[in-house]
Amino acid sequence: SPLAPRGPAPLSPSLSLPLPTAQAAAARLCSGAGGQPEAAGGDGAMLRHLTRKLRASGPVTVAEYMREALTNPGQGYYTRRGGIGESGDFITSPEISQVFGELIGIWYISEWMAMGKPNTFQLVELGPGRGTLTEDILRVFKQLASVLSKCDVSVHLVEVSPRLSEIQAATLTGGKVQPNPEDESAYMKGVSKTGIPIFWYRDIQDVPSGCSFYLAHEFFDALPIHKFQRTEKGWREVLVDIDPEVPDQLRFVLSPSRTPATQNFIQPEETRDHVEVCPEAGVIVQRLASRIEKDGGAALVADYGHNGTKTDTFRGFRNHKLHHVLSAPGTADLTADVDFSYLRKMAQGRTATLGPMKQREFLKNMGIDLRLQVLLQNSGDTATREQLLHSYDMLMNPEKMGDCFNFFALLPHHRLLHPDKKDKPESKSPSPPVAGFNELLLK
Ligand code: SAH
Repeated sequence: SPLAPRGPAPLSPSLSLPLPTAQAAAARLCSGAGGQPEAAGGDGAMLRHLTRKLRASGPVTVAEYMREALTNPGQGYYTRRGGIGESGDFITSPEISQVFGELIGIWYISEWMAMGKPNTFQLVELGPGRGTLTEDILRVFKQLASVLSKCDVSVHLVEVSPRLSEIQAATLTGGKVQPNPEDESAYMKGVSKTGIPIFWYRDIQDVPSGCSFYLAHEFFDALPIHKFQRTEKGWREVLVDIDPEVPDQLRFVLSPSRTPATQNFIQPEETRDHVEVCPEAGVIVQRLASRIEKDGGAALVADYGHNGTKTDTFRGFRNHKLHHVLSAPGTADLTADVDFSYLRKMAQGRTATLGPMKQREFLKNMGIDLRLQVLLQNSGDTATREQLLHSYDMLMNPEKMGDCFNFFALLPHHRLLHPDKKDKPESKSPSPPVAGFNELLLK
């Protein structure tokens, strides 16, 4: 491959990628908040697969390494392990509190109303994990059945992991699913416990067109990134290779010259010395933006990330501890902060964008405090009340998930137009502010 030149220069110690150092708690907190990497482990099948490949054709890009380690159909982390939740490798907001998904459910209802209550829409979730978030959203849809009564809703899940799609099916349908014939775009279908049809796909392109509300929670951070390092000789791509000194150990090296990726992905005006780019995220955002422009709807993206300012954020998690990204591939989750400035750029003006807005501000705007008060009043025992307060703190505390997780939305341009600029002068009612982001809108 042109990305695997012979004889790459080992990454010099001064260029080596520092691992985060502080202690990571239950959640995969933002880069810079880690712990000592956990030691290697696992049965080594993925490592053997990779070392064979590296011996045969030379070093691979970090993106190729990450794709293999996470979603290789036989040995990938999400394919085999995918440990989301307290007993797994990392915990996510929907697994911490039902309130999280409920507020997101309200966001979709509110956008559906602002769109003039179309009589049908699809809820499309990318990387649904254990299915908990969709379950909480569907509970809200059921509670608001009188509002949604004449609306035909369907759920479409984009999931590559057979293991996680089974867990999603158990969560959402109680296991009542059937595989779909090969010629259909969905590989599995079922009906939710609340009576809504659900379909599973491997790729967003397989999801039928039509007015859709998209959701990506901790999805973009799992997509493969390329890594680049500025050197005296110009930009070089970081590659993964076998360590010649230590058998069966991988190491980072720099490409000896520029690669197609250094030419395509580094902007001439770049000021950072180390840059991560996730082209797959860019392609998906382009697709979402085209679909929303054509068919209406909205996309809500929530993830940890930055606005094109951070450098080295690639890290691994296993058993809720930081794990060296090159050690025992396939046994740990690998992740990198989402560059929201890149996502905004890749929407290419087809839609408007809002955010990134800090999770604690978004959830506050969505009414999390009121919801907490109601739940506290309705819970009789101290243990439940403590649990509610603890999960609120996890989601909202700036030191925990409150500041480093962000919400970002794609919306049709007309949704944000000032009412008097709308080309429909007969519509007198102003566009309601977009829930969660309303502070941004008032500016
Ligand atoms: N949204 C969930 C899970 C996050 S983990 C939560 O917040 O709890 C990432 C999810 O994305 C997993 O379900 C994983 O299997 C899925 N995934 C990873 N790469 C993917 C890809 N390329 N296409 C589709 N799904 C993918």
